[in-house]
Amino acid sequence: MSFDYDLFVIGGGSGGVRAARVAAAGGAKVALAEEDRYGGTCVIRGCVPKKLMVFASEYSGMIEDGRAYGWDLSSNGFDWTHFKTKLNAELDRLEGIYRNLLKNSGVESFDARAKLADAHTVELADGTKKTAKHILIATGGRPVVPDVPGAELAITSNEIFHLETLPERILIVGGGYIASEFAGIMNGLGVKTTQFYRGEQILRGFDNEARELVAAEMVTAGIDLQLNENVTAMRSEGGKIVVTDTKGNETTFDQVMFATGRSPNADNLGLEALEIARGRKGEITVDAYSQTAVPSVYAIGDVTDRVNLTPVAIREGMAFVETVFNGNPTSPDHDLIPTAIFTQPEMGTVGLSEEDARAQEDIEVYAASFKPMQQSFAGRAQKVLMKLVVSKATRKVLGCHIVAPGAGEMIQLAGIAVKMGATKEDFDRTVAVHPTMSEELVTMKSPVR
Ligand code: NDP
Repeated sequence: MSFDYDLFVIGGGSGGVRAARVAAAGGAKVALAEEDRYGGTCVIRGCVPKKLMVFASEYSGMIEDGRAYGWDLSSNGFDWTHFKTKLNAELDRLEGIYRNLLKNSGVESFDARAKLADAHTVELADGTKKTAKHILIATGGRPVVPDVPGAELAITSNEIFHLETLPERILIVGGGYIASEFAGIMNGLGVKTTQFYRGEQILRGFDNEARELVAAEMVTAGIDLQLNENVTAMRSEGGKIVVTDTKGNETTFDQVMFATGRSPNADNLGLEALEIARGRKGEITVDAYSQTAVPSVYAIGDVTDRVNLTPVAIREGMAFVETVFNGNPTSPDHDLIPTAIFTQPEMGTVGLSEEDARAQEDIEVYAASFKPMQQSFAGRAQKVLMKLVVSKATRKVLGCHIVAPGAGEMIQLAGIAVKMGATKEDFDRTVAVHPTMSEELVTMKSPVR
């Protein structure tokens, strides 16, 4: 049987674009459909604009620190319109790069929504049908908003980049990556920021000591972090939003942002007719090779809700190409993934938290928390944390947790050692780079627990 394409990819985000162009570079005839902007969540409304906003927001502290170091600095405040104009131009540039990457690798792209018509056919929004030997679904995810009265008054991370003006006062709801990162961003940009989290402590699932420190520093930086607190209703009043919380208090905000999790984009894709199974959150169920129950249909990235991170989607895309087009069955490795949370201060983490490691085996914990030189000199009381969780039996470092400026950069490198199975003694054999914050990772002599 002959098909229009060897591969049809639905979704032009990080995972889909990578899979499409690597398959095409290997000689496959490939098409890709994207209904929105190329680059997906990460490039257009996630990691990239978020990180640029983190950079923008950090200048407020730097100006103060600079003065403490003797610089004669004055600031007339932050110009949101200036930043937003530059940000939009940058996103346009990046989207162009993504489009060109596809074009230059010979991938045919369709600016249209697509769904499955059968195991080898994709139907575009205008009804055009294209056949393919293999179909890859890489449609990502979207923010979910809780069902509370007035929820439609709130924004999500999709809209935060498009605000006409910066609010004077914002409420951010949630305690995950997105909520905690945006609380820091907004606070740094001079917005009066309140964060509600329904549980005991933000960043659930991460190492307790690390998340306690992040939360404490966020509060010191001026964020009004309210734990065990949630929104029960919202109403519009005089152009503002009046929020009723679980304690029955009413507070007025200019904006409310829900960062209460994300859902896989798997609706209306034609999966049901093909009997492609979906899990509890609506994610597409795949095997270790990203294959669905229909052998010609694969899925990667957030739509499969495995580890929802851009570099993981890219890995899954590469493993898919290796498996299907290079005759080398490869399952993506989801073990020991280093990750950073761009809170202020940043958190970088790889491996097991102290709590998860202790539940598994006997451990030793090495930790150092101190005031870093740069900020301490400037008169800031900010603390950092360097922490290693070590197996007593094998001496392997099971987890590394860093809370510090630049923790994302540090954990990428520590992640190599941990992934290689480095022991505490391997860390100790490494000479310290002095004076740095991360030298503590190789100089901690005695366990604290
Ligand atoms: P998360 O799943 O990380 O967090 C959702 C938060 O919302 C949790 O604190 C959760 O509380 C809370 N929540 C859920 N439902 C409700 C509700 N009905 N009312 C109040 N609170 C609620 O999702 P995010 O949206 O923050 O991020 C989505 C994914 O995106 C992450 O899993 C991550 O993989 C990825 N991401 C990664 C980043 C990075 O690598 N730096 C940055 C941003 C996103 P509870 O803890 O009680 O469940």
